[in-house]
Amino acid sequence: LTEKLQNIFRQLRSKGRLTEEDVKEALKEIKRALLAADVNFKVVKEFIGNVQQRAVGQDVMNGLNPGQMVVKIVNEELTSLMGSETTEIALQPGKAMTVIMMAGLQGAGKTTTTAKLAGKFKQKGKKPLLVACDVYRPAAISQLKINGEKQQVEVFSMEDSRKPAEIAREAVAYAEKNGHNLVILDTAGRLHIDEEMMEELQQIKKAVTVHQTILVIDAMTGQDAVNAAKEFHEKAGIDGVIITKLDGDTRGGAALSVKAVTGKPIFYVGMGEKLSDLEQFYPERMASRILGMGDVLSLIEKAEAQIDEDKAKEMSRKLKKAQFDFEDYLESVKQMKNMGGIGNIMNMLPMGGLGKMKGLSEDQTSQAERSMARMEAMIYSMTVQERRDPDLLNPSRKHRIAKGAGVDISEVNRMIKQFGEMKKMMKMMGKGGRRGGFRLPF
Ligand code: GDP
Ligand code: MG
Repeated sequence: LTEKLQNIFRQLRSKGRLTEEDVKEALKEIKRALLAADVNFKVVKEFIGNVQQRAVGQDVMNGLNPGQMVVKIVNEELTSLMGSETTEIALQPGKAMTVIMMAGLQGAGKTTTTAKLAGKFKQKGKKPLLVACDVYRPAAISQLKINGEKQQVEVFSMEDSRKPAEIAREAVAYAEKNGHNLVILDTAGRLHIDEEMMEELQQIKKAVTVHQTILVIDAMTGQDAVNAAKEFHEKAGIDGVIITKLDGDTRGGAALSVKAVTGKPIFYVGMGEKLSDLEQFYPERMASRILGMGDVLSLIEKAEAQIDEDKAKEMSRKLKKAQFDFEDYLESVKQMKNMGGIGNIMNMLPMGGLGKMKGLSEDQTSQAERSMARMEAMIYSMTVQERRDPDLLNPSRKHRIAKGAGVDISEVNRMIKQFGEMKKMMKMMGKGGRRGGFRLPF
């Protein structure tokens, strides 16, 4: 999904200005990409509707070009689709007992996640008891025991064949007697949703007070996971979702649809098989990850943060008056490096005033960076007075600089000449009334 979306945005960015037609066309592509990523059809339809309304409507912001605008809107809508805010699993206040029931299809990751959660809550000062309610597979009980041991959390099980609801009741009584304040019931899944499984969950809920029913779904099963979520919610009632195996999911379809379909938040995401691989769910980060725009967005932020407005203004004033000296040059090189070099700036300003530069190949970029580095070396070999006033540079001073920078004197001469020409050019541009701002130092 990420790759497809990136292509769409690349196309958008290559435009100078977006028409309503462009937005429509792009949204059609986004729609296709979302459907291909196994996002629920209804969710996609509503999502596209929302983005379109905002993109075409009055909601246009200063300072962004249309491509960035669409990216921003898509990003925000994706975020709100997934619930906007981080939601914690609600525990009973103080020392009161909380009972959590884990539900989900077989293989979704319930047992693993039960142990992962136990670790998290233990860190927060809870005293959990894990309960093996999967009575169908003896292996399931020992799996929970092994995981519980790893987390140094007690596991409750009953060897004789009891009903899950009965085990749950015994377990809660045991927990209360033994100073536990959190019970996590690991229930049995089935390969498919069936009445028996739902019945079992309902029985458990009748037998004990379940404060939170958490559905565990496998991200890699995409739309199936979302359909399962819908049914679990309708038949057993869930309070939230944990999505596992997100480490192996490249499409992101399940994460995108589940909130929209069930109305319930995603609490955590499983990012691996290790018991520490459980992460809080951040809708915004997930949206950025799905968009694959994380880098671009953070670069835009970076640029905003790094370019000191005042410095830029001062610089542009100097440029117009052609007072730009070697010290200023070093300053602008520094700003540029802060933003990650020429290559990054080109990517960062997809439709900015650098249209001409967009054609720079990687080769050309590194060449430009190399020649800038040489120039820098020469400037660093100058005294501050020389940097401020290049007219001071007589032949003997030039020799000293060439030696210091390890270059030929002809290169020093060429550089000084080029710098003079650049100044002249900038003076002309300044007179031409172009708005000043940050400029690239070459
Ligand atoms: P259950 O049948 O629902 O109890 O599922 P299990 O907890 O037994 O997990 C099934 C398989 O998925 C096991 O091999 C787990 O190691 C694996 N698994 C669970 N969560 C994750 C996860 O977040 N990432 C990865 N890569 N594997 C996971
Ligand atoms: Mg299990």
